Amino acid sequence: MVRYGLIGEHLGHSFSQRYFTEKFAREGSTDHRYDLFELKDLDELAPLLADTPDLVGLNVTIPYKQAILPMLNELDPVAAAVGAVNTIRIRNGAMTGHNTDVEGFKAMLLPMIADARPRALVLGSGGASRAVVYVLRELGLKFRVVSRSRGTGDLTWDLLDPALVGACPLIINTTPIGMHPKVDDMPEVPMSAIGPRHILLDLIYNPERTRFLQEGAARGARISNGLAMLHAQAEAAWRIWNGITPFHTPAPPSR
Ligand code: NAP
Repeated sequence: MVRYGLIGEHLGHSFSQRYFTEKFAREGSTDHRYDLFELKDLDELAPLLADTPDLVGLNVTIPYKQAILPMLNELDPVAAAVGAVNTIRIRNGAMTGHNTDVEGFKAMLLPMIADARPRALVLGSGGASRAVVYVLRELGLKFRVVSRSRGTGDLTWDLLDPALVGACPLIINTTPIGMHPKVDDMPEVPMSAIGPRHILLDLIYNPERTRFLQEGAARGARISNGLAMLHAQAEAAWRIWNGITPFHTPAPPSR
């Protein structure tokens, strides 16, 4: 058996398990399986690996994307620059960490902006935000990160006024605000400043149209949800597990 899986604290319904189980069935890979491994603590990882020697790939989710770093044998340069790992390749007991949210976010962003380089606002400064910021830097976009705390972002929410929103045609929600089941919530962006020049991206994929995207679309903005990112990051993980992506991806230009 060739085994893959997801580690995290509370897994519940997992997109990844469904995605890979359907993929294995579609491709006739009857000797492949993808399991969920709920770990109360990362100390449980070593016993899991010892008990599951046929495990060759893992996805990593909340709250371990950063905490896993010291436990890895190698770190892909992109994951090192982002400071978070969501994919691990295991070979002969050695773990290499990667970040496929970077490739996933590019798949979401590039069709929306094409050759334009709009000023951006990134809402939230957590794990996914770090991958988003990496991509914006790589593409040379100017951006500011909005956070609840001074120090982790460039500005706090109370400073997000209509003038700033009007000056930033690209707004990316990386917070979980509006995610199922709290679908009536939305980030406190002054929506009066949103218009047809705007592109709103929401990393959330459940619901497919958050209230943030609905209200943006009603004001003429172009919108995209996190589904393209979700699929692209999963396919990138698949390529890494199968050695299809070269280990050393280029680091972003320093600026
Ligand atoms: P995370 O590490 O917990 O980061 C979320 C950040 O959002 C927090 O660090 C915080 O930033 C901000 N935030 C959280 N609650 C908030 C609130 N009530 N008000 C204002 N800001 C709040 O989570 P993550 O892994 O980055 O995931 C974030 C979202 O992206 C989730 O909805 C997740 O499903 C989605 N996601 C989607 C994909 C995809 O493939 N589509 C991939 C990864 C993540 P501050 O501390 O700076 O305020």
